[in-house]
Amino acid sequence: MGQERIQFFDTTLRDGEQSPGCSMHTAEKLRMARQLETLGVDVLEAGFAVASEGDFDAVQLIATEVRGPQIASLARAKREDIETAARALEDAGRSRIHIFLASSDIHLQYKLKITREQALEQADASVRLACQYVHTVEFSPEDSTRTDPDFLCKIVSVAVEAGATIINLPDTVGYTIPQEYAALFRLLRQRVPGMEKVTLSCHCHNDLGLAVANTLAAIEAGARQVECTINGIGERAGNAALEEIAAAMHVRNDKLPYTHGLVLDQLFPTSQLLSQIISYGPSPNKAIVGSNAFAHEAGIHQHGMLSNPLCYEIITPAAVGVPNNRMVLGKHSGRHALAHRLSELGHPLDSENLEIVYQRFIHLADRKKSVYDQDLLALLSEASAPVPTQKP
Ligand code: MN
Repeated sequence: MGQERIQFFDTTLRDGEQSPGCSMHTAEKLRMARQLETLGVDVLEAGFAVASEGDFDAVQLIATEVRGPQIASLARAKREDIETAARALEDAGRSRIHIFLASSDIHLQYKLKITREQALEQADASVRLACQYVHTVEFSPEDSTRTDPDFLCKIVSVAVEAGATIINLPDTVGYTIPQEYAALFRLLRQRVPGMEKVTLSCHCHNDLGLAVANTLAAIEAGARQVECTINGIGERAGNAALEEIAAAMHVRNDKLPYTHGLVLDQLFPTSQLLSQIISYGPSPNKAIVGSNAFAHEAGIHQHGMLSNPLCYEIITPAAVGVPNNRMVLGKHSGRHALAHRLSELGHPLDSENLEIVYQRFIHLADRKKSVYDQDLLALLSEASAPVPTQKP
């Protein structure tokens, strides 16, 4: 039996762009959209067309220029939003309107100030309207994870009945935990009629650092679309990081036996392009794309890595497009790593000379956090000078 396919829905340009410091101009969004197409995402949420003129222009430009992924615009469950989204998407090859409507009592009461009954009516009318304009209509009951499960089933039934073929259950506030989120997907599959014709989708926020774990739990419980962003950017603590989900599926295909359309070695270039556009990158220790994600400094680790990378590396940097293994030399490094780097630099040393250079190296590393190639070359050229004595 063939493996089931997971659809990657990228919302870097919508949810990602909504976070502080991440706003992008239209031309930058188009550059990013082209790279996401190269990466192979299935759906590209290009913006929230009604939100501003800039958002409208970006959705329209991307819909016109980018043909690989399906292009989506977000819309509230309102006529104006849907008609604006439809206009922005007119020239798309394949288009999707993504309607969201709060379903938790706290949002209905305090934010929208409408009753549950009114929410059901709005869901029905808005999905029907959107179906007149685009190929695919996705419906998201916002704050799903804090919604009364009975009412969640009801509003989803209404949306499916009205024509939505993608149902997304957003963990809008990053509140859920894996077991609970998985149970929600199972509940919907059991209780809502016609779910076998619907693609279930997850959308997780990282407020508790669980966005990727929750995403993987949702997949196991039947979600076949994952909503995520490059570098995990997004509202507050961000969204599930696309590169982490993809890497987990790659490394642990034994437990996550699914296929997808992503070109894995485009992950790092995509992350780099985003960092360059928004002027800040992921933290150094960020999984997969952080600058230290494949760096080994401890001497024992470096020795192990040189003997066989599998000792400490579950995925090669090259698999995700990271140019080469940046082994950081520092005071925790041993003679093996130093000798290896020196011979890479064209200076293989015998053990006697290595010992001399090693003593100099340790002395330098004590004062300097990272020792770079040019430092090593300088150490070599000082080789005739006496080894400096350690400071007390
Ligand atoms: Mn979100």
